[in-house]
Amino acid sequence: MSEKPLFHRVAILGFGLIGSSLARAVRAKGLVGEIVAGDRDPAALETIRKLGLADHATADLAEAVRDADLVVIAVPVAAYAEVGATIAPALAPDAVVTDVGSVKSAVIASLRKVLPPNTRLVPGHPIAGTEKSGPESGFPELFQGRWCILTPEEGTDPAAVGAVAALWRGVGSDVAEMDAGHHDRVLAITSHLPHLIAYTIVGTAVDLEDSLQAEVIKYSASGFRDFTRIAASDPTMWRDIFLNNREAVLDMLQRLNEDISVLQRAIRRQDGEMLHTWFTRARRIRRGVIDAKQA
Ligand code: NAP
Repeated sequence: MSEKPLFHRVAILGFGLIGSSLARAVRAKGLVGEIVAGDRDPAALETIRKLGLADHATADLAEAVRDADLVVIAVPVAAYAEVGATIAPALAPDAVVTDVGSVKSAVIASLRKVLPPNTRLVPGHPIAGTEKSGPESGFPELFQGRWCILTPEEGTDPAAVGAVAALWRGVGSDVAEMDAGHHDRVLAITSHLPHLIAYTIVGTAVDLEDSLQAEVIKYSASGFRDFTRIAASDPTMWRDIFLNNREAVLDMLQRLNEDISVLQRAIRRQDGEMLHTWFTRARRIRRGVIDAKQA
């Protein structure tokens, strides 16, 4: 338990996998005084109350943020503008607003349009998650040993950035700071493109004729299984990510298409040396991921 809470009252808006995991973690570590849950889903509110995940739970987001010194937006990114507009009139003047959205430039733009101009906004993105959704899927260790990237705009109050960083460190994360646009390019290749590939492969398999489809499931452990896990991720969340990180994803997709063409040609020309060199380089990257404890 920390000696003094970092925030007296935290309102977590969108109490799904990420929001509820954060609530569990900050409570377990004694990092905040009171937790208020705001969510539009009646089933989520019922689960929050049944499991006692927050001190208060409400569908009224303006009520949820009243007197909160920290507001965490944890809804799918397409809902940010609506949520921001709803809470703007009820925010305490010195409240810190942060979020957990998987894209950053677009969410900053949509929040800046609706929040009071002097709002202390500290956008964030925990690089942690599972393919599950909803408050029942959350767990307090989700952020342990994972990165959380903060993307504050220039001129943001350093005390606000420091307090949000302390919260993430408190739940076991390593914290990095970067420009929002840079974040979106990094995540386009490390997260968004792999999900697009998984959705594509699983879609292609589903379109195969019935007999082949049965074999695909039966022998899925040969590699396909890992794609099906990724492709089981929340469709709403991923729709919003692709629509809100369009430019960076399209750029990475262009590069991927070029590289696939290179491999395609190597296979056609039976260029084993080229394929071997390519795969050897990729294998080294895996080593790096393991060494960085991100496996
Ligand atoms: P989730 O489990 O689906 O939970 C989202 C919750 O927000 C749901 O209860 C949803 O209710 C509620 N909600 C949606 N729109 C709302 C609105 N306008 N007002 C109030 N509540 C609303 O989602 P999640 O996986 O925790 O993702 C939340 C955020 O975290 C997203 O921005 C995502 O990009 C980010 N993130 C996710 C992961 C991951 O792996 N899951 C990792 C890092 C960051 P309904 O069910 O009624 O829509």
